[in-house]
Amino acid sequence: MAKNKLVILGGGESGVGAAILGAKHGFEVFVSDFGAIKDEYKSMLDQHGLKYEEKQHTEALILDATLVMKSPGIPEKAPIVVKLHEKNIPVISEIEFAGRYTTAKTICITGSNGKTTTTMLTYEILKRAGLNVGLAGNVGKSFALQVAEDDFDYYVIELSSFQLDGMFDFRADIAVLMNITPDHLDRYDYKMQNYTDSKMRITQNQGPDDWFVYCADDPIIQEELAKRDIKARKVPFTIMQVLKEGGWVENDKMKLNVNNNTFDMTIYELALQGKHNLNNSMAAGISGSILNLRKEGIRECLSDFQGVEHRLERFLRVHNIEFINDSKATNINSVWYALESMNTPVVWIVGGIDKGNDYSQLFDLVKEKVKAIVCLGKDNSKIIAAFDGKVKQIVDTKSIEEAVRSAYFLAEKGDTVLLSPACASFDLFKNYEERGRQFKDAVRNL
Ligand code: ADP
Repeated sequence: MAKNKLVILGGGESGVGAAILGAKHGFEVFVSDFGAIKDEYKSMLDQHGLKYEEKQHTEALILDATLVMKSPGIPEKAPIVVKLHEKNIPVISEIEFAGRYTTAKTICITGSNGKTTTTMLTYEILKRAGLNVGLAGNVGKSFALQVAEDDFDYYVIELSSFQLDGMFDFRADIAVLMNITPDHLDRYDYKMQNYTDSKMRITQNQGPDDWFVYCADDPIIQEELAKRDIKARKVPFTIMQVLKEGGWVENDKMKLNVNNNTFDMTIYELALQGKHNLNNSMAAGISGSILNLRKEGIRECLSDFQGVEHRLERFLRVHNIEFINDSKATNINSVWYALESMNTPVVWIVGGIDKGNDYSQLFDLVKEKVKAIVCLGKDNSKIIAAFDGKVKQIVDTKSIEEAVRSAYFLAEKGDTVLLSPACASFDLFKNYEERGRQFKDAVRNL
């Protein structure tokens, strides 16, 4: 009998993982990448004797597939994907594919902001409780590779909307939805509802034994809940009201009551400070409570979690000025939370490639907390126009060294210098990680 042909579009982390898993399950595998494939991935493919091509898509081979796994970075509108749809060849995501070959329990986390932080925190909680758990999705090793090589009982998976778009039969045992605010609209025909529908796919296929954990303070999520018939057990969390079940804040305590487990701890003990992190801590704690993990372990993790690099990362004090690296803040919503959590005067470093920001949402917080703005980007005119007259000083800089020196000059003892750019990094850096690392180096060189 002819073998099933699995074509993989994109030879990155998820593609190579899926290729290895596919071969293990008897598929004839072919990986095709329109760009270059990194050497480390090529050697993994070679080691497994898998066929691949780079810098091209050979249509005849791709359109001969029984099944296609598409990397989340490739848009639906890419010509090759359009052709696959025309031929009715199923195109799925790596999570969908890998999910077919494991019976492990999955805790899946999505949202516009807070995914990585909540995923890492949840993973720590499960790991510290002694569960045999893998970390997957947008962070670390691909889900597919772990399903192929390891044998975990649980996976904590960070899901982007692009991953969710290619998921059809996959079912999350615990689905966590942090928030829905505008992002990536260029991939959704500039229609917010399309992006929202994508995020809500996290609940698809869930049944009454599954769990749906969500932020009750988010108006878009509330609107969706009113429209949809969600079968899973719903667990809300909130920082705006007191609940009887779910997660909430009362008298400076974070309280959980889930699955007949109650839990509380003062918010000052939480390792991750700031309102947004209360949501992240609650979401992670709720998943731990659903799994009936010991309270002491959850408490320990929530109070000593180290945080994730580039997310409100407090890495150095110089002459009593605190420097914070929030390079991952590439939209207005995440900057809002960053500024909100500041309790000293702030010198704010902002700029890069603007994805359509409406800065007016930050005016009140900037007035209250920001003493000076240092713009960092090739073209800072939009930011300067938006904040002109709203802070005492605005400085225009075009390199990280210049930005850090200016910020240091403007800050006084007791102030904070916050890099929270609200923009993508590609004008001056390879990615947000490089921006964050160069920022930290420049501060260390002061
Ligand atoms: P994601 O993986 O969804 O991009 P991260 O955990 O990497 O989320 O955080 C991205 C940015 O958003 C950081 O600047 C962080 O400070 C901010 N952030 C983290 N959690 C939240 C949240 N729950 N709501 C809003 N902003 C958040």
